[in-house]
Amino acid sequence: MALKDYREEMLMCCRCSYCKFIPLEKIEGVNNASVCPSVSRFNFNTYSGGGRLNFAMAMLEKKIDYSDKLLEVVYNCQMCGGCDVSCKYGMDMDVLDPINEMRIQCVSDGHTLKALDTVINSLKKQNTMIPGSAAKRGDWAKGLDVKDYTAQKARVIFHAGCRTCFDKRHVGGGANAVKLLQKAGVDVGIAGKKRCAAAAGHTRWAIKDDFLAQAKKNMEMFKKSGAEYW
Ligand code: SF4
Ligand code: SF4
Repeated sequence: MALKDYREEMLMCCRCSYCKFIPLEKIEGVNNASVCPSVSRFNFNTYSGGGRLNFAMAMLEKKIDYSDKLLEVVYNCQMCGGCDVSCKYGMDMDVLDPINEMRIQCVSDGHTLKALDTVINSLKKQNTMIPGSAAKRGDWAKGLDVKDYTAQKARVIFHAGCRTCFDKRHVGGGANAVKLLQKAGVDVGIAGKKRCAAAAGHTRWAIKDDFLAQAKKNMEMFKKSGAEYW
């Protein structure tokens, strides 16, 4: 799909604001009334799901040009999908997909946030979101007595994400998860140094072609392992 394929959604938006605040009859308290972290932060409709659809329509119809402000709005979205879920309470339409297509459109037109250049280059060149850390891929599992599913058959694959592998604050969590699975009697395996990116970063930053290539690579590796659960 492409941004133009969501024109109907852009036209359907009835500005009910469910994408900003959950439907009135569902609100249980003032602390749980907000849907969109982006609107909570910027307090302006353009940052909401519906606002982004209006923005997308303006992009489609070439009524606005790329600018720092446009990119700032596009990338200040957590891609959490809250707007999409809340909108579907009243409407039969997609909100998150067109928001994602806006990002893909920006990337394919060569417009990304300067602040993201390092991360995107690292993903493209080293297959990790954390620059300069590719050689340390397997370090998070040092000392763990666990199968390498690329060499031994395991029933379940534990795929460690970039942050589990490289971010010191998360490394212990990955090892503990493996230990817990083993304690529960699960036949688990990891890929160690051969591990590839999960492609979550490629999705988040809308690098569509690289995402598809990475996802394919991971699928082939998982299938080849003979594991039952990934
Ligand atoms: S909840 Fe859906 S229909 Fe309502 S304003 Fe938001 S995007 Fe538009
Ligand atoms: S996906 Fe973006 S626009 Fe939708 S609720 Fe989350 S932050 Fe807001």
